[in-house]
Amino acid sequence: MFFAGGLGANPHPAQALEEFTPRDQLLATLEAILRVQNNHGNRDNKLRARMKWLVDTMGVEELRERIFKERKFLIASATYPAGVPRVVDERGDAPAGVGTEVPADLGSPVEFRALDPFQKWNLANVVRGRANGTVSAYTWCRLGDITTAQFRGLAQVQRDFGVEVRITNRQNFVLRALTEEQLPSLFARLSQLGMAESGAELARDVVACPGADTCNLAVTQSRGLADDIGNALEDAGLSEVGGVRINISGCTNSCGQHHISDIGFFGLERRAHGRPAPGYQMLLGGRVANMEIQFGEKASKLPAKRASEAVVRVVGKFAAERDAGETFSQWLDRAGGAKQVGTLVADLDNFPDPDEHPEFYIDFDETGPYEAAVGDSECAT
Ligand code: SF4
Repeated sequence: MFFAGGLGANPHPAQALEEFTPRDQLLATLEAILRVQNNHGNRDNKLRARMKWLVDTMGVEELRERIFKERKFLIASATYPAGVPRVVDERGDAPAGVGTEVPADLGSPVEFRALDPFQKWNLANVVRGRANGTVSAYTWCRLGDITTAQFRGLAQVQRDFGVEVRITNRQNFVLRALTEEQLPSLFARLSQLGMAESGAELARDVVACPGADTCNLAVTQSRGLADDIGNALEDAGLSEVGGVRINISGCTNSCGQHHISDIGFFGLERRAHGRPAPGYQMLLGGRVANMEIQFGEKASKLPAKRASEAVVRVVGKFAAERDAGETFSQWLDRAGGAKQVGTLVADLDNFPDPDEHPEFYIDFDETGPYEAAVGDSECAT
C-alpha cells in the first residue's frame, strides 16, 4: 500500500507503507491512515492540508509508526469490525484491471494509414490480454467530452453486448469482457455514435484539465491547447504514434496530471512587449508505472500558440528515432534527457510583435486580449 502521494504545484511521490498489507487488515490500515491525517494534518492552511505535507513536517518514518500504532489499537478494539467485509467475501476482490502504462508497441502511422477503418480501430483501440486472452476496446472521447446522446448510446451498447464499461484516466471509456466475434458489430455501433475513432490512448489523445473554460484558478485555456495539439499532430501525420502521452494543466495545480506524462504542460502568464500573454512550461519524461514514479523535468517555456509546434518536433523525433518497443522515457534518456531535447524547441520561445501577430496575445477560444484573472476556488488546493 502506498500513501501520502500527491501532485499539485509541489508533487510528492507516494510512500510505501510496508512490504505487504494482509487483505484482512486493509480497511483497518486505511482508517489508521485517515486518523493520522485527521489528527496531525494541517487545519490552518488549506494549501497545506494534504497528507504529502505531513511527510515533510513529520518525516515518513514517524508517520508510518503512527499509522501502525493506530492500526494496532483499531484491530484490538472490541467494537471494531475486523477482517474482510462481507460484501468483499460475497462479490470477490479480483483486480479491476491492469496499469495505465501506454504500450509502446502499437506500430507506426504508415501502417495505420494503409488499413481500412475497422482494421485501423482494431489495431489501435482493441487490447488483447496476453496472459488470459481477454478482449477490451477503447472508445475515444475527444478532449474527454461525451454528449448525452453518446452516453445513452453507450449504455445501450453495454446492455446489448453484455460488457463492462470502465472510465480510463485518459478520459476515455474501455469496454471489457468482449469476444472477437463482437468486434465488427461493436465497431459499427460505436461508429454511429462517433466514438470509434482510432485515436484513443495514442499521441493525438491529449488529456487536459477544464482550464479557463470553467476553472477559476486557471491562467490558460488548457482544453484549447489540447485541441490545437491534436490537430497539429494530425496535420504532421503523427497523431497515431503510440507510447506517448500528452497532458495539460491550465495552471501549476496539476489537475491535468502534467507531472506524470511523457509530455506535460502547465499554464503560465508570460509577459512580452509590455503585455501579458498566455504561455506554458513544457515538461518531459514523467511516468508512473511498474511501482515507480518519475516526475517530468522542465524542458522549455513556450508561448501558448507555439506549444503545438514544440510537440510536433518532439513526437516527430521520438517516432523517427525510437527502437522497436522503446518507451518515450527510454528514448528520452537515450536522447540526452529533458534539457537536451528541450533545446530542440528553444527557438520557439519568443513572442512576436503584438501589432504583427496579435494572436500570440489572445488565448485559445478567446476573443479578447489575454488577461490572467484568477479567482477563488476549492479546486486543487
Ligand atoms: S486548478 Fe486544476 S482544473 Fe483549474 S486550471 Fe489549474 S490544473 Fe486546471
